[in-house]
Amino acid sequence: MQKISVIGGGTMGNGIAHVFAQNGFNVTLVDIASDVLDKALASITKNLDRQINKGTLTEADKQATLKRIHPMTDMKEGVANADLVVEAATENVGLKLKIFTDLDQFAPKNAVLATNTSSISITKIAAATKRPDKVIGMHFMNPVPVMKLVEVIRGYATTDEVTSSIMELSRQLGKVPVEVNDYPGFVANRILMPMINEAIYSLYEGVSGVEEIDTVMKLGMAHPMGPLQLADFIGLDVCLAILRVLQDGFGNPKYAPCPLLVNMVTAGKLGVKGGEGFYTYTPGSKDLVVSPSFR
Ligand code: NAD
Repeated sequence: MQKISVIGGGTMGNGIAHVFAQNGFNVTLVDIASDVLDKALASITKNLDRQINKGTLTEADKQATLKRIHPMTDMKEGVANADLVVEAATENVGLKLKIFTDLDQFAPKNAVLATNTSSISITKIAAATKRPDKVIGMHFMNPVPVMKLVEVIRGYATTDEVTSSIMELSRQLGKVPVEVNDYPGFVANRILMPMINEAIYSLYEGVSGVEEIDTVMKLGMAHPMGPLQLADFIGLDVCLAILRVLQDGFGNPKYAPCPLLVNMVTAGKLGVKGGEGFYTYTPGSKDLVVSPSFR
């Protein structure tokens, strides 16, 4: 696999394009919005500069990496020669099914179609194509250039050959792939989201405060970030959507989202991206200040 097409140039898409290009792959980065593509290239440049400042990359490597990334708004053209497509568009079932129907038509017959979805069934996405054996989950973690894990998710029909080629490719990117089967939340979010939900319940029931809950998990469990801060970072709307997938997928009330989380999302308190969640976020400041609602 040499020619990679990444669909979606947002938070994850630009990180995925960065990592492939830095490891010598040619990348076509497709988004419907050309301003997103400009922002994606600006983010990639900033992140490469950060690596130069740390002494892990040279200026020549940075220029070579940037040269390997080709931004595009036309998906048909963007995937026409792909060996592998990695879809990282907005987390929405209808949108992903439409994208995979189109990818199946536009990408070469032998191309593998991967999705970076956090929670949508790989088997369901694969069923939108005529090549379910070549559809697989390639779940990178945020921020992609920093985080080592790739959760490689086998759909119901994904072949051993496709799975091992994606495992090997992930290693070529300097990542550590872990193979998992396609059940709601896979492994990462099936374990993480109930923990975040329980932290929110502990706050909701007055067991303790925001900083106290995060401190217990940071110092007591050696987590680098407390669950409430992590929820803000992921996006409270994203956490809620994943909990709904677990609740629907397993039909088990233990996954029901805490009413406080539902209220916060309804009120537009989405975490870092909106400036407020369990903490407030001021651009340019690294201070972690508890939101006025929880002081
Ligand atoms: P994002 O909103 O930052 O980016 C999504 C991008 O997709 C946007 O730029 C949008 O313009 C683009 N897009 C929408 N429809 C498109 C189409 N038809 N063709 C091409 N581009 C299209 O979202 P994100 O956080 O980067 O998430 C992308 C995927 O990665 C989701 O499936 C999400 O669940 C998954 N994911 C996210 C994280 C995270 O921490 N953000 C972590 C792991 C996985």
